[in-house]
Amino acid sequence: MKVPPNLLSFLKKEEKFFIATHISPEADAIGSSLALSSALESLGKVTVLYDENPVPKVCRFLPAQEKFTNIILPFITTDFVLILLDCNTLKRAGIEGLTFKHSIVIDHHETEEDFGDIKWVVPEAAATGMMIFYLIKELGVNITRDMAINLYSAIAIDTGTFRYGNTTAEALRITAKLIEAGASPAYISNNLYETWSQERFALLIMSLNTLEVRGNVAITFVTREMYRKTGAAPEDTEDFPAFTRVMKDVNVSAFFRELADNYWKVSLRSKGDINVALVASQFDGGGHRNAAGYVVKSDLESAREFLLKALSSACQPRHKEG
Ligand code: 5GP
Ligand code: MN
Repeated sequence: MKVPPNLLSFLKKEEKFFIATHISPEADAIGSSLALSSALESLGKVTVLYDENPVPKVCRFLPAQEKFTNIILPFITTDFVLILLDCNTLKRAGIEGLTFKHSIVIDHHETEEDFGDIKWVVPEAAATGMMIFYLIKELGVNITRDMAINLYSAIAIDTGTFRYGNTTAEALRITAKLIEAGASPAYISNNLYETWSQERFALLIMSLNTLEVRGNVAITFVTREMYRKTGAAPEDTEDFPAFTRVMKDVNVSAFFRELADNYWKVSLRSKGDINVALVASQFDGGGHRNAAGYVVKSDLESAREFLLKALSSACQPRHKEG
C-alpha cells in the first residue's frame, strides 16, 4: 500500500487539521483519528478531533480519546484543512454543508462519492487504521505505545479480531509491529469485548428474542421501548448485527434499530461473496462487502420486506462451474 506523495507533502506543508470521522463511530474511526492526530502533533501541527456523537463507552480506554469534541468553532472551517477518516462524505460525518480550507479523504469503504481535494481510498485495506500506520511511517514519525493501542484496536474491530475475509497477511504483519510497539492483544480484546454492562446484555437478550429467520436471512431488531426497559443505550447495539450470523445456514444477518417513529437504521452482515454494500447502496447507504448499513423511513414490517426483496437477488445460491 503506497501513500500518495501529494498527500504526504500536503500534510507536511499545512499547519492546522480538523480530523472528522463518521457518526456512530467505532474503534477504527476513533483509533485511526487519535493515532493520526498524535503523529501530526508530534510534527508541531495543530489538530482538532471531531465526531458528532460522543466517543462510545467501549472506546473510552483508547489513549487520548478525550481529545474528541462535537463543537465546531466558526474559524475552523476557514483556517483548518479537513481530514475525513473512515468515511468519504461530509454527510457520513454529520457536517454536510460546511466548507473547509481544503479537504482530504482517507478511507477504505467500497462505496465512495466524489468528494475531497486529495483522496486516498483503499477498499482492499481491512481498516483505515492500516492506512494510518503507513502514513505515520511515511511522515517519519515513530509509532508510540499510545498510537499502537489505537491502531491495533482499529484493525482488530474491522477484522472481527482477525477472523473476517479482510484479514490478510499484511494486516497481521502491521499488527505484529503494533504489538512490538506496545499494544497488548489481551488488554485490548478485554476492553473491546468483555466490558459489557448488564443493561447491554439484557438488551442483547431482548433483541435475540426478536429473531426471525427467512430463508438464509436472520432478522433481529431493537426498539426504543427496549432501551427504556433495559436501561441500555443505542451505542450498546454495536456488534449486535454479527451475533445471528453465527448460524450455519444464515448468509445475511439484518439488524433493525429504531431511531424515531417509522425511522430505522439497518445494519447488514454477510458471509463470503454476498455483497451487502451493494444492497445498502440501493437504499442510499453503503459500507463494505460483508458489513454495510443504511437508514430507512417506514414502518418495520415494510422496511423488512423492502430489504428481503433487495436481498433475494444478492442471496441466490451460487453454483460452482465444472
Ligand atoms: P454498522 O452496521 O456497524 O453501522 O456499519 C457497518 C458498515 O457499514 C460500516 O463500515 C459503516 O461505515 C457502513 N455504514 C453503516 N451505515 C451506513 C450508512 O447509512 N451509509 C453509509 N454510506 N455507510 C454506512
Ligand atoms: Mn473502518
